[in-house]
Formats: sequence, C-alpha cells, structure tokens
Amino acid sequence: MYKYDPKSLKAEEFINHEEIESTLAYAEENKSNVKLLREILEKAKLRKGLSHREAAVLLDCDIPEINEEIYALAEQIKKDFYGNRIVMFAPLYLSNYCVNGCLYCPYHYKNKHICRKKLTQEEVKAEVIALQDMGHKRLAIEAGEDPVNNPIEYILDCIKTIYSIKHKNGAIRRVNVNIAATTVENYRKLKEAGIGTYILFQETYHKESYERLHPTGPKHNYAYHTEAMDRAMEGGIDDVGIGALFGLELYRYEFAGLLMHAEHLEAVHGVGPHTISVPRVRRADDIDPDEFDNGITDDTFAKIVACLRIAVPYTGMIVSTRESKACREKVLHLGVSQISGGSRTSVGGYVEEEEEDENSAQFDVSDRRTLDQVVNWLMKMDYIPSFCTACYREGRTGDRFMSLCKSGQIQNCCHPNALMTLKEYLMDYASEDTKQIGEKLIEKEIDNIPKEKVREIVKENLVNIENGKRDFRF
Ligand code: SF4
Ligand code: SF4
Repeated sequence: MYKYDPKSLKAEEFINHEEIESTLAYAEENKSNVKLLREILEKAKLRKGLSHREAAVLLDCDIPEINEEIYALAEQIKKDFYGNRIVMFAPLYLSNYCVNGCLYCPYHYKNKHICRKKLTQEEVKAEVIALQDMGHKRLAIEAGEDPVNNPIEYILDCIKTIYSIKHKNGAIRRVNVNIAATTVENYRKLKEAGIGTYILFQETYHKESYERLHPTGPKHNYAYHTEAMDRAMEGGIDDVGIGALFGLELYRYEFAGLLMHAEHLEAVHGVGPHTISVPRVRRADDIDPDEFDNGITDDTFAKIVACLRIAVPYTGMIVSTRESKACREKVLHLGVSQISGGSRTSVGGYVEEEEEDENSAQFDVSDRRTLDQVVNWLMKMDYIPSFCTACYREGRTGDRFMSLCKSGQIQNCCHPNALMTLKEYLMDYASEDTKQIGEKLIEKEIDNIPKEKVREIVKENLVNIENGKRDFRF
C-alpha cells in the first residue's frame, strides 16, 4: 500500500487513493458541520488558499446560506485577483493522429471513420493567419500522441512556424502546448522553443478508472502520465496547466485530486500550477457523453469552479467552448479567468469549414460564436477581454510570476496590458459595434489604474496604437 506524501515523486503517493477516500469521508461527515464550515470560510478569506480537505468540505456543503457565502467569497476573490479581466485564447489542432485508445475521445486509434489529418507547415501558416485575422494573440496547440506522425520535431517545427508569422498587424505572442506526456529531454526542447504553458489534463486521478479508460497505448501508464508535470518542470518549463475531464469519475474525487496535484507541485517545485482547466465530457464523432455515468449538472460545475477559486486563488482557471454561453456566463463570475473564443476543434478548421462526412473534430463546440461576438458579449457584461501575453515575454514565469501574484502586484501589469491589447483588437479586428463599446470601456477603465504615472503611459500608448504602433506592455 502506498503512503500519502505530497513531496514524493511517485504518482500513487502524491495522488494517494487512500488519502482521497479519507478526504471524501471527512467531507461527507462534516458537510453540515456549521462551525467547521465557518472556520474554513474564515481561513479562505485570508486569500492564501485552502487544503484539499478543507476545500472538499466546502464542495460537499449543502446548506443554502453557507453556499451563498461560498459563491460570494469566490466572486470577491476573483475580483481581487483578476479584476474584471478575461484573457482570450484559441486552440489550434495540429494533428489528430493518435496511437492511444482513450474511450472518451474520438481520436482514439480504433476510430476508423474519423477523418485523420495532420497540418503541413503551409497549412499551419494558413491557420495562424486565419487566427491572427480574428485577433488572437495566444494559442494552445493540440495534437494526438503518435511518435511516427507527430514526433516532437513536428511539434517544434509548428511552434517555429507559428511564431514566425507576422501578418498585417497580427502576431501570435504566446504558444501554449497541450501534447501527450513525454520525456524530460523533450520538455527541455519545448522550453527552448519558447512555449508559454505546458498543459496536460489528467483526465481522471482515479488510477483504476484511468487504466480502464485508457486500455491501450502509452497513455495507459498512469504513473508516467501523472508524473509528467514533474518531468516538465525538471526540463525547465515552469508554467504548467493541469485539468481533469469531469464526467469520467466522481467529481468529488477529481476535485480532491486536482488540489492534491497542485499541492504536490508547490511542495516539490515551489510553484503550483499556472492554470487549472475544468472540461466536461462532450459529444463527439463516436463518443456519447451519456455513456459515462458521472456527468455533472451546471450547478455542480459552478460549485466546483467556486471552490477551486477559493482553494487556489493564484491559479488561473480556464473554460473552453465546450461550455455553452449561459454556463460560461455563470462561471465567469465565480472564478474563471481565461476563455477561448471563436474556436474550431478540428484539424484545419480555421481555414475551412468541414463537410459533415469529414469530421475531424475532438469534440462538439457548444459556444459557436465568433471571437468578435464573444468580445462584444464580455464587454456588455463589463468584463475587459484581454489579449495580454506579457508575462512570459518579460520572463515573469514560475515562482517569479507566483510571488507577483501572491503580493497582488501583478494587477499593476494585467490591467493596463488588458486595456492596451484590447485597444489593438478594436483597431485591427473589431466590428463597428464592438469597437464603440470597447472604446467606452477603455475610457472608463483608464481611471481605474491607480498609479498616475502608469495611467499617463497607458494614455500615451493608446494614442500610439491609434497611430499604428503595436505591442506595448508592462
Ligand atoms: S485524448 Fe488525446 S491521447 Fe487520448 S485519443 Fe484523444 S488525442 Fe489521443
Ligand atoms: S500581465 Fe501577465 S498575468 Fe497579467 S494578463 Fe498579462 S500575461 Fe497574464
């Protein structure tokens, strides 16, 4: 039997099954313990986060008044750390060749009727130009695991191509990478290629379920997959993004697993995850989400987001276009700091709409609006869509980034950068209506920059942007 140890480098010890089971039992026992719930909430108000045990109790609580307090605190923490900014990004699917047998993903190797595609460098270029023309500056590249079709050299070539394209006023300034667990040496190569965050979803933290859901292929190896972030950090990547695919296992289990993973990274490397993603299983080519028993309602989803926000205030939280507009609207208030917009989840999908019979998508997109529509919608709710990519380009990564986050100083960069990058977007890509709303928003938000000197620089730069200059940042 394995023993729980957050500092261990062994998957079964830092994501320890017995510890999760005992956490869930503790949460169940205490979910109506008002005294304890109040103590946990008081601790959470210090904004230094919560342990997985404490957060699990909040997640289980079904006392309406306390749940109201949980939501209110999550909203407040969101405001304190992220203001009203929402960072925008888009996924870019490079290849859907995959040798794995994941039961919830249509790219599994046994799926013979899905259309397999792998972008050539020319096609990558065309996709990137299409993304730049929408206004995107930050991408997350995605590829299946296939050492023959998608070796690391292919991924590196694509990153190089993406960074090299300067089309009109466009540029992709940050490439995050979501590829299969790999070796320290390959992570080092990704680092050298200038990636932003390395993202890898655990899918499920429950080892037995994990092995059942990944019956074949290299991904079957639970320990290799779970320990990937440690290898990534050893390879020099200090911003990593974790996530669980909700619907595969009991959500309480995944919730505890996510937080234990975050605690482990903090304990071993001194820096927790840069982001947490909370995808839910979606319908896709030969995937029916109803086949998975553990689907969660929108209300549970919102509660998960709120409790994560409270438990790890410094960690960005991402929702994708898997979620509907209504659902995204709800969770934005509660803690989400990054969303995708105008996404295509098929290989080559930004250049060409696919024919019905040519489906190469990883999942059905629920929010099908264009980036302009999403930007417009966010601003109407008083959010500032931000295209900022400054931190990684200024070397603010890993523990340097986290210490700025924890002291709240990062806000002095995020807010002005959001306004300047939004201004670029409005000048280069927005529809007339979006532009008008955006200009008013920027005017109003300039006054919320606390330091006069910064305010003056931003005003100057906004004029510079009007005059054709680009890429200002703090
Ligand atoms: S989830 Fe990833 S590894 Fe699994 S089949 Fe899909 S693309 Fe391949
Ligand atoms: S300044 Fe850094 S943390 Fe803030 S939005 Fe830009 S990249 Fe993100």
